[in-house]
Amino acid sequence: MVNWIIKKIVGSKNQREIKRMRPIVDRINEIEQQLQSLSDDALRAKTDAWKQELAKIEDLNEQQAKLEEILPEAFAVVKNAARRLCGRTWDVCGNPVTWQMIHFDVQLIGGMVLHDGKIAEMATGEGKTLVATLPLYLNALAGRGAHLVTVNDYLARRDAEWMAGLYGFLGLTTGCILHDQTPQVRREQYLCDITYGTNSEFGFDYLRDNGTASTREAQVQRGYHYAIVDEVDSILIDEARTPLIISGPASVSTHQFDRFKPLVDQLVRKQSTLCNRLASDAKELLEQGKSEEAGRLLFKIKLGQPRNKQLLRFMEDPETRKMIDKSELSFYGDARKDALYELREELYFIIDERAHEADLSEMGREYLNPNEPDAFVLPDLISQFAEIDVNREFTDAQKAEMKAKAQEHMDRQGERIHNISQLLRAYCLFEKDVEYVVEENKVVIVDEYTGRKMAGRRWSDGLHQAVEAKEGVQIDRETQTMATITIQNYFRLYYKLAGMTGTAETEANEFHDIYKLDVAVIPTNRPCVRMDYNDFIYKTRREKYNAVVNEIKNAHAKSQPVLVGTASVESSEVLSRMLKREKIPHSVLNAKFHAQEADIVQRAGQPGSVTISTNMAGRGTDIKLGPGVFEAGGLYVIGTERHESRRVDRQLRGRCARQGDPGASRVYVSFEDDLMRNFGASDRMTKIMERFGLEEGQELEHPWLNRSVENAQKRVEQRNYLARKRTLEFDDVMNKQREVIYGYRNEVIHSDEPRPMIYEVIDEAVPAKVEEYVPPGDGLEPNYDGLLNWVNTTFPLGLSDEKAGFRGKSAEEISDFIIEKLKHAYELKASHEEDLAVRAVERHVILNAIDRLWQEHLYAMDSLREAVYLRAYGQKDPLVEYKTEAYQMFVELMGSIKNEVLHNLFRSTSNLMAFEQFLSKLPQFLISQDNPQAGTSTTSSGMPMPQPAAPAPPDPEMQLPLRREVPKAGRNDPCPCGSGKKYKNCCGRMA
Ligand code: ADP
Ligand code: MG
Repeated sequence: MVNWIIKKIVGSKNQREIKRMRPIVDRINEIEQQLQSLSDDALRAKTDAWKQELAKIEDLNEQQAKLEEILPEAFAVVKNAARRLCGRTWDVCGNPVTWQMIHFDVQLIGGMVLHDGKIAEMATGEGKTLVATLPLYLNALAGRGAHLVTVNDYLARRDAEWMAGLYGFLGLTTGCILHDQTPQVRREQYLCDITYGTNSEFGFDYLRDNGTASTREAQVQRGYHYAIVDEVDSILIDEARTPLIISGPASVSTHQFDRFKPLVDQLVRKQSTLCNRLASDAKELLEQGKSEEAGRLLFKIKLGQPRNKQLLRFMEDPETRKMIDKSELSFYGDARKDALYELREELYFIIDERAHEADLSEMGREYLNPNEPDAFVLPDLISQFAEIDVNREFTDAQKAEMKAKAQEHMDRQGERIHNISQLLRAYCLFEKDVEYVVEENKVVIVDEYTGRKMAGRRWSDGLHQAVEAKEGVQIDRETQTMATITIQNYFRLYYKLAGMTGTAETEANEFHDIYKLDVAVIPTNRPCVRMDYNDFIYKTRREKYNAVVNEIKNAHAKSQPVLVGTASVESSEVLSRMLKREKIPHSVLNAKFHAQEADIVQRAGQPGSVTISTNMAGRGTDIKLGPGVFEAGGLYVIGTERHESRRVDRQLRGRCARQGDPGASRVYVSFEDDLMRNFGASDRMTKIMERFGLEEGQELEHPWLNRSVENAQKRVEQRNYLARKRTLEFDDVMNKQREVIYGYRNEVIHSDEPRPMIYEVIDEAVPAKVEEYVPPGDGLEPNYDGLLNWVNTTFPLGLSDEKAGFRGKSAEEISDFIIEKLKHAYELKASHEEDLAVRAVERHVILNAIDRLWQEHLYAMDSLREAVYLRAYGQKDPLVEYKTEAYQMFVELMGSIKNEVLHNLFRSTSNLMAFEQFLSKLPQFLISQDNPQAGTSTTSSGMPMPQPAAPAPPDPEMQLPLRREVPKAGRNDPCPCGSGKKYKNCCGRMA
């Protein structure tokens, strides 16, 4: 019956594959025949039965096996539904369309290839839209969503509305993601059984869900199960180099650094003057032989300005050096800690070169803000809260307000302390032309080990901005990347991926190597009778265009429609001008207005019509021939240039002679074309041309000239492939990091109890910090004061030296001590607040830290990527450099995130306010989770489609007031209400 298989020779492996499917095609058709006697309802009932059966299988692979098993019957069901629909009419993009399609055998084969997770190459007009319905229906039965990805919004909507009639008939819902939809509408679309949309809408939703959404309710997608990418070559190859980017206003506030810079500048100068005076004093003392006193002064300089020039000169002399060391050692003895404290207080600030820290002293604080000596110390918030609580004069509302004020005050202090200390570090620990250089108004880090400039790297946590402020170079960034992913990496998320296009074969290697996608070439339904003529080759562009216009004139004269393909908008315009001069009516398409262009392209097959179009324009729209065109030879496709890739030429040629129609194609080439000039084909050809003595306006034509041009194309294809592969290798580095960060983020968003995550951060970050001050191993002096200072400026613990008792203890003991105090204080603070709110704030604190620092990291990674290319000149492999440094930066990032969480742990009420505001806006985004079928908005088919659900009731948990009167009890105590549950699980949560 179907002898096209034997006729079509498409490579033996492919042929075998197709042959293997033959019996299944027969089986599908057999079943379909039997189905014809069923009632509509009985046919539809199959959908539900399968759905229920598949819902019971949890394992994805087992589910696939089941799908494989029911494939013939499911395909038959879809085909049978298509048969029943014939003659029915519904609206597609505002126009009534009458259904007239029943799946051809080749379409069933295409459907199987797509179900297998491969690319089905099917020529234009073979009905790929209909082919996709088979595997989409089958895979949607698994209940995890099935996606169809298109190149533009118009096609997404057209195909969704067109095919929704079929899916709806079978009891499946259809959604469509469009550009201007709200999150709520989007989520409804994703909850449909089958969802259409463009690659960028899918990709951006992924980025928003994982990179910027901060609650479960704000996320719209529900996993990545099965996707078919239509026009797969254009999405995975042509668009491969431009990543999707969500950007937003820069989050790092820089004005603070600007504001404090003059102050810190003065302070540093003050200290410098002080240290210089100390140095002269020391010199005098030395001359008088008072070496002990001199030693004390020099040690003081070392604390205050370790890189003081005179101090460094003193240090050159071994005798003096010994003296300073001796003095230093004596101060670290327990007995002299008061003396050390005194010594430190004689300076404005103290520098710890080893820990890379700088701390203000009392004197420094007073200097910076004489009227408010506590401006740079964190208040003891816990005591403040306790005091507020025991005071009976205030109402609860007043108390809450007072606490909020205290918290806000602390936030401001915290920010100020952080800014000042980063500026101090920038001034005292980072020296221009040593740690960094200033180039082109940028601060460029210098690698401390190699001395190499690390263009593009940035210090984190505001330090880089502080150095920029110090140097007076531009520090504000207007926008920054918040989230980014390449299309490729988005599609790699899917459990199963498939694709379809008219042109994949030439890129089969790339699809296989990069996406693990095999290409299967599906024979056409009817034999293709298109005439592909040899290229016409001219000396100059002008001659070429003249010849093209003449050819169009000829065709137009006999009413044969012409589709002219150009490589650029510019050459479209040139041609258009020439045709106007000849008074030939025509339309021009530039792939800008998809819907209108689709309309024009649809009419490109009418007698006498002339359509000029760039490559992408009107793609996906079928050109049907008008009356009389058959006789005139069908649609004539003229290429005005060979494209860099053969695939794109094939795509253009494929626009004509669909479904066995007549049609012809010819490409016009000139030696002035980019491809011919740049890729070597012309040298040999010039010789030929000379031999043939080509005259003005005359063309060259020979089959092996075509081959010569194609070889040039192959070379470019190869080069472009390598470039894309390279891009992807770079992106892979980022992709791994993104997976870790997004995984962490999602864990936070979805955790009901974020407290353990907070504690995990404490448990990891505190010991790391303590070790900076109290280094393990011998030989390095512990800096207990610095540590205490850090504790007291980071946490509202108000630890005195005595209470802390760090001296003489091991790093581990100290860490344990701080961690315990910290957790205790935190429990106390949390117990004063409403449980649900505390959890929301805890999530917020971690998310905030992740987002802010991840964005900085993205920025740094971007710059790094640019920078490593320069290193290629130094015989270094940029990719290796990039990987190594990116890894290092990522390790730093994780550390910074933890530190930031620590920093913000106790400063959260103001965050809470922002969060409350956010929550008040939330209900409009909420959607009931129990109603996954909630409405589709894209179909208007008159089919039994589900109606949009009534607005879902907001989640009761989210509606709770954030602060309210709750009976007092410990979180783990039995609830006072007598329910027998733990308090935290009862009134403590739901009061
Ligand atoms: P492709 O995407 O493969 O280029 P389309 O899905 O746009 O093709 O379909 C091209 C045309 O073929 C459509 O107008 C459609 O109505 C028609 N068509 C597809 N399949 C069938 C079929 N089985 N029977 C009749 N017409 C079909
Ligand atoms: Mg199509």
